[in-house]
Amino acid sequence: MNTEQAPIRGVAPKIGIVSLGCPKALVDSERIITRLRAEGYEISGEYKGANLVLVNTCAFLDSARDESLEAIGEALEENGRVIVTGCLGAEPEVIEAQYSNVLAVTGPAQYEQVMDAVHKHCPQPPNAFQSLVPESGIRLTPRHYAYLKISEGCSNRCSFCIIPSLRGDLASRPIDQVLREAEQLQKAGVNELLVISQDTSAYGMDIKYEPRTWKDKEYETRFLDLCQGLGDMGMWTRLHYVYPYPHVDKVIPLMAEGKILPYLDIPFQHASPNVLRNMKRPAKQDKVLERIKQWRIDVPDIAIRSTFIVGFPGETDEDFEMLMDFMREAKIDRAGCFKYEDVKGAVSHDLPNHVPEEVKEERWHRFMQLQQDISHERSEAQIGRVLDIIIDDSNGEAAVGRTKADAPEIDGLVHLENYPDLEVGDIVKAEITDANCYDLWAKVPGSNSN
Ligand code: SF4
Repeated sequence: MNTEQAPIRGVAPKIGIVSLGCPKALVDSERIITRLRAEGYEISGEYKGANLVLVNTCAFLDSARDESLEAIGEALEENGRVIVTGCLGAEPEVIEAQYSNVLAVTGPAQYEQVMDAVHKHCPQPPNAFQSLVPESGIRLTPRHYAYLKISEGCSNRCSFCIIPSLRGDLASRPIDQVLREAEQLQKAGVNELLVISQDTSAYGMDIKYEPRTWKDKEYETRFLDLCQGLGDMGMWTRLHYVYPYPHVDKVIPLMAEGKILPYLDIPFQHASPNVLRNMKRPAKQDKVLERIKQWRIDVPDIAIRSTFIVGFPGETDEDFEMLMDFMREAKIDRAGCFKYEDVKGAVSHDLPNHVPEEVKEERWHRFMQLQQDISHERSEAQIGRVLDIIIDDSNGEAAVGRTKADAPEIDGLVHLENYPDLEVGDIVKAEITDANCYDLWAKVPGSNSN
């Protein structure tokens, strides 16, 4: 149903945006929106009144592909003029087989192609609106935190993952560009940076750690230099998607010094060497336990977030018990667990001995129960401590924030009641008074709260 029209002369054309998927896709949407706004397009979160709708898709798992296809169908139904981009866009034949009437399909991070498609189907307005765009770009996150994307793609080949085939090999942004963007974000009011990529610790490998100058200082385009540069800026800096390479340990002293947040999002995926080998990931788990112990000695407050997959093809009861033992010993602070999803096109699809769904389900429940117990124990240990809290939301009475151990959207919250003076983005000291598995409650010492 092609209900919407080409733009009317003198009226800024409106582009509807539907953004699905992970923080990396969100950053892609922000970049596209920034370009659109810079060129004078208006952005709309609604189908109605939009000259066309851009759907940024996800294709990591079959469930995400289904959701993306559904979103494209809905946008076509509601608006009729649709451009598709993002991870599912790497497979145009899948989209076109179901929806032959989409205007264009582009792949992930193909900003130029998206803009070309928009220009073709909804011509560019005059430049009068350019001054509306802040130097830091348009962001879809609240003003006080921002995702900082340091690279595209991934050069690893984990057997369950199709991201390299969708997004290509690692392509790092030169370090001076990344530091400049971080500085612009800070000037725009950001006080927490979330560093993201597919593989943050591999940063710069593809461009041979190219040296660059930033503010009269030499930096190499590499993980440690990036952490040093960002650490010197004084914002909260949080590292996500850190692949467990040995050189990650070099960043721990920066956490001990307070330059980088004591938070490491490091997906281990499993603990059994057999399963890890089949996943094509580093398989020396005894070393991992030693490293975690050492990190906790060096930075006692470090919070480790990780993700795991249960029910990977060939995972035996013994493998699963090894994972449970690892969890009991490592006491990972924040763990996500996924039941293995058999994505077509992934190497693991062709592995033998797939695990029956009911076994996956049972293992998943056992994992989650154990993780809840670990989280609860860790949360309760915070009671009585005074911690820094960044305020995410405040309605003039109650406020909600996070500790340094909590990333937005994925980790726990801190609830503060009766605090009229707190503003979004404030960082305050508060005493933890109560806890459950995920969230904490706190009061600000010396405040006049009840
Ligand atoms: S490191 Fe992450 S993105 Fe890269 S192949 Fe493995 S799972 Fe996929």
